[in-house]
Amino acid sequence: MRLGTIRGIPIKAQWSLLVIVGLITWSLAEASLPELAEGYTTLEYWVSAIFTALAFFAALLVHELSHSLVARQYGIRVRDITLWLLGGISRIEEEPATPSQELRVALAGPAASLAIAVGGLAAGFIFSAFGVPRLVVACIVWTASINLLLAVFNLVPAAPLDGGRVLRAILWRRHGDRTRAAISATRAGRNFAFALVTLGFLELVLTSNASGLWLVLLGWFVLTASRAEEAQIRTTRDLAGVRVEDVMTPDPWTVPADLNVDDVLRDYVLKRHCSSFPVVDGAGHVTGLVTLRQLRFVPASKRSSTGVADVLIPISDVPHAAPNDVLLDVLRTGRNPEGRLLVFRNGHLVGIVSPTDITRAISAAELAYAD
Ligand SMILES: [Zn+2]
Repeated sequence: MRLGTIRGIPIKAQWSLLVIVGLITWSLAEASLPELAEGYTTLEYWVSAIFTALAFFAALLVHELSHSLVARQYGIRVRDITLWLLGGISRIEEEPATPSQELRVALAGPAASLAIAVGGLAAGFIFSAFGVPRLVVACIVWTASINLLLAVFNLVPAAPLDGGRVLRAILWRRHGDRTRAAISATRAGRNFAFALVTLGFLELVLTSNASGLWLVLLGWFVLTASRAEEAQIRTTRDLAGVRVEDVMTPDPWTVPADLNVDDVLRDYVLKRHCSSFPVVDGAGHVTGLVTLRQLRFVPASKRSSTGVADVLIPISDVPHAAPNDVLLDVLRTGRNPEGRLLVFRNGHLVGIVSPTDITRAISAAELAYAD
């Protein structure tokens, strides 16, 4: 769901955001605000709660925008910002070039949250001294406190949190090895995630307080994100400098376009030990790709009456590359639902790359690293 564009950066929101906005509004209206400022009507609490929840998300957006704008100052392109259930994500296309750039991009978000917190607390004190209604002051103070919490939580040195990026920048500067620093930061992230989950469970069991569930959820998110980040860092390291021709299976078996599904299963899938075949027409042109997945969709009774041409993925939808293309660049561009890549040299099919080929290349490269 696209919300708009700020300074050329698209701002998006996931539907899960509505759930959390609703939840925050509800807990503000029914619990926090009546506690902070007694004696108002239910309607007044709910209206203030809605404004406060929106202010909270505006503050989240400011946090993410700060990361993005500082990144852009260093010439790093920012693809978009997405707000979702647990906050915001800035998708930054390249990595910062130096440790100090990395450090500044990482600190920009928490610095913004901290500034909002300090500004909010100061405004709260001044407003209450000038007799502004307590409910308004309560909303401002709540927003300020949550931003303080956000700044502190994000500074925990555990990737993928901002503090993890700070840790990465410091280790990078100290040892001069960005990949090693990044892997250490994701390990710290994993340990922090386990601590969060354990604390959450303890809270649930010992105090039967439902907020323990929140900690477990948060820990789970950090765990998943740090694992994904570590895998991505390793892939980038392992495939650095690898060309498409280094991993491709050369001269793949091709299937004539006039065969039916039955023929392909019997004569190709079972005999050739492959799960995907480029399809070639009478003139020798590659017209598409057929994989086990498409063949499986055809019911057994219709296999002999369905042509392979009817089920193939048309060539226009199959990603392709040249043998000397850099593999990582090819993998980064666009979606690849089947995970297959056809390799052409001067218009002639010379190879195919499957997920197995890439896994094998990664496993082989991993042997070179002791960690
Ligand atoms: Zn951040």
